[in-house]
Amino acid sequence: MKNFFKLRSHDLAIDLGTANTLIYARDRGIVLDEPSVVALETNDGVTKVRAVGSDAKLMMGKTPANIKVIRPLKDGVIADLDVAEQMINHLIHKVHSKKTGIFRRFDIVVCIPSGSTNVQLRALRDAASNAGASGIYFIEEPMAAAIGAGLAVTEPVGAMVVDIGGGTTEVAILSLQGLAYSTSGRMGGDKIDDAISSHIRRKHNLAIGESTTELVKHGIASAMSPDGEGRIMHIKGRDLVSGMPKKIAVSEAEIAQAIAEPVGQIAESVLNALEHSKPELAADIMEQGIVLTGGGALLGRIDEFISEKTGLAVTIADDPLTCVANGAGRAMEDPLLHSVLIPA
Ligand code: ADP
Ligand code: MG
Repeated sequence: MKNFFKLRSHDLAIDLGTANTLIYARDRGIVLDEPSVVALETNDGVTKVRAVGSDAKLMMGKTPANIKVIRPLKDGVIADLDVAEQMINHLIHKVHSKKTGIFRRFDIVVCIPSGSTNVQLRALRDAASNAGASGIYFIEEPMAAAIGAGLAVTEPVGAMVVDIGGGTTEVAILSLQGLAYSTSGRMGGDKIDDAISSHIRRKHNLAIGESTTELVKHGIASAMSPDGEGRIMHIKGRDLVSGMPKKIAVSEAEIAQAIAEPVGQIAESVLNALEHSKPELAADIMEQGIVLTGGGALLGRIDEFISEKTGLAVTIADDPLTCVANGAGRAMEDPLLHSVLIPA
């Protein structure tokens, strides 16, 4: 690969996740970490971007009728191309203009979910190009996750990485700077959120918003059932019968049961990947165990659960939410890792 990265100090790597978008800048590390959310405002029939990222997320569930808050990525892929492009553009410009005040030429590494279609890849390439990138390279997300988690991807040993994001869970077996197996399933944090809110609606007749659902998930949700009721959490919502605000108590045990199905699906896809792996890689994975990345790795006792299902050792990467962005950034900076990059 000639003329590969001219070491421009403005080069970037971007992890465009269904839940969060992270940007890594050459030699600076992660410079942006914001929810993948856009607030659109419509006035007199004209729709404009009102806010992007954390500013937009703050508006979620509290907006007047003319403001709509959306997540342009769904199930790991771009669902709304136009809005996704504006989001990417906005975030890249935010990173660049903060430091320099002017816009310079730059190359970019874009993380792609495994199994992306050509149409999706073209959409990402166009979005990066419209945001001003000159050289555009792809890196497969599980590869970036593995590098970010500190796995030795340049060595001839098999490694298994499970990246549990908002919209998808990617399970990959890596060896010799390549993916020996990878699969991306539409399960992850969002499905767990849905399971929590629909349980609370059904069992307690209470409607709760997205931020309350996340509070429950981060607070007491666990992949394994506790002995007894476990921890108790008080939450507020709107009573579906009276329409009035109401406060209820939920237990760790009932939430564990409510999310058992989506959590089970994550373990299923890990088992599936193990069944598909070549014998010698399987042997390495048995030695090395499984590494979890992505925000879903922070779900209570998910490591224990996957370990119980597979009989393998499971570890949670340090700072799982940033593994993909850090790995893509390192692949950009380290010439020894350039072979994992794919010119777009
Ligand atoms: P994506 O790559 O799809 O943007 P991330 O890797 O950023 O996803 O992970 C986001 C997901 O992780 C969200 O569903 C979020 O709710 C979930 N998450 C973050 N922290 C926790 C936590 N402490 N417990 C459970 N889930 C968490
Ligand atoms: Mg991700």
